[in-house]
Amino acid sequence: MKIFIAGIATETNTFAMAPTGAGAWTVYRGPAGGSAWQPIVERLALHGGHEVVLGLLAEAHPDGPTVRAVYEHLRDELLAGLQAAMPVHAVLLPLHGAMVADGYPDCEGDLIARVRAVVGPAVPIGVELDLHCHLTHKMLQSADIVIAYKEYPHTDMAARFEELWRITVAAAEGRVRPVTAVHDARMLGFWHTTREPMKSFVQRMQAVEREPGVLSVSFGHGFPWGDVPEAGAKVWVVTDGDPDLAARWALTLGREIWSLRHQTGARQSSLPAALDQLQAWHAGPPIVVADIADNAGGGASSDSTFILAGLLERGIGNVALGGFYDLGAIQVCRDAGVGARLNLRVGGKLGPASGHPVDLAVTVRAIRADHAQSVLGLGPRACGWGVWVSTDEGLDIVLISERTQVFGTDLYTGLGIELGRKRAVVVKSSQHFHAAFAPLASQVLYVETPGLLRSDFAHIPYRHRDLEVWPRVEDPWQGHAP
Ligand SMILES: [Zn+2]
Repeated sequence: MKIFIAGIATETNTFAMAPTGAGAWTVYRGPAGGSAWQPIVERLALHGGHEVVLGLLAEAHPDGPTVRAVYEHLRDELLAGLQAAMPVHAVLLPLHGAMVADGYPDCEGDLIARVRAVVGPAVPIGVELDLHCHLTHKMLQSADIVIAYKEYPHTDMAARFEELWRITVAAAEGRVRPVTAVHDARMLGFWHTTREPMKSFVQRMQAVEREPGVLSVSFGHGFPWGDVPEAGAKVWVVTDGDPDLAARWALTLGREIWSLRHQTGARQSSLPAALDQLQAWHAGPPIVVADIADNAGGGASSDSTFILAGLLERGIGNVALGGFYDLGAIQVCRDAGVGARLNLRVGGKLGPASGHPVDLAVTVRAIRADHAQSVLGLGPRACGWGVWVSTDEGLDIVLISERTQVFGTDLYTGLGIELGRKRAVVVKSSQHFHAAFAPLASQVLYVETPGLLRSDFAHIPYRHRDLEVWPRVEDPWQGHAP
């Protein structure tokens, strides 16, 4: 069997300052491409004796909507690769599900529809989505099966891809006939699967997948900072040819997640409360502080200074902070060299949500041209230039030239910063940091700062999504059948 695999993936924050332009994309082409999917795909192909054609795989760090010509160029190159590979027996598309480009509020829906037009009605199309997706009618119209990650942090990306492979190949061989039912939960939120009750809800979905006739269960959390008509949380169930069974399970699980809504929200600390806790620390493992509103993984600028300024104001030292995306500060440090002492202006540059720049007297401790960090078991990912500067107040700051959130402890240790004896480690990330940092933390604090990704879900200023959604309204079901 000949299987075509390709994808274009980013998460678009429609409220972000900057567009996602050509320079933001990393593009892998063909078998020598080197994307994270490659070893997984090779293993699966070897195992099943299938021929795989790897088409264009492109990814970009989240930011504002992708420039129209950039999206169209990537899409048309992907489709040309598919045309050249025809005839194929199945198509697998690892996508994100919350990508917006100028003129395209639903890039994935557009892409899948065009893939369908190339392969015709008989070739199964399997789509893998990030759980922070907007599952749309258009995507479902053209895809045979859609599967989202179940875990946040997304530690199951590879496992879900294997599941998608298995079901799509079975469909191509005529052994299953996937049908899908969706339940719109009419909710906005963030659901950490590292703790209860979400841990059990993930197990519940897995248990339903073992029921007769059920092929796959997904809970798409949605991406609240994407202002598109179909934004929000959804449950969907794929069964083998039984739409009623799919609808019953989607409704049942949808009601269950609704009933948990007051227990599943992220527990945030205010910045003053978090600083109080840091001041009270005397010894032991560090407190890990998540700067959730400045998470580049959701389109934030990763240069906000609210926590840094708070630490300086209170005179709290022995803290590591990262990663500040500050190209100017990095260049100044590169020019000065390791060991130099200088006055450095850090952060607060990319927009109002970045806060004010902070002026520090620093020593440059390390500079790496090819800094990288480990990402959720998928191997190292580039951070560009990595620079460690320390202050006399005992702050160790990591500057990076690629705007990326914190995933791995090696973002710090790779430059020489020891984390074990720190009072605190501040990470610019909402939740993906948790997999690597929780084991070394005495506790994890999710701190609400005035950054771009504020968790005030009731007041996100939507213009395209309707406002009948929890928690903006207490009962979003008025006038809608649940
Ligand atoms: Zn995600």
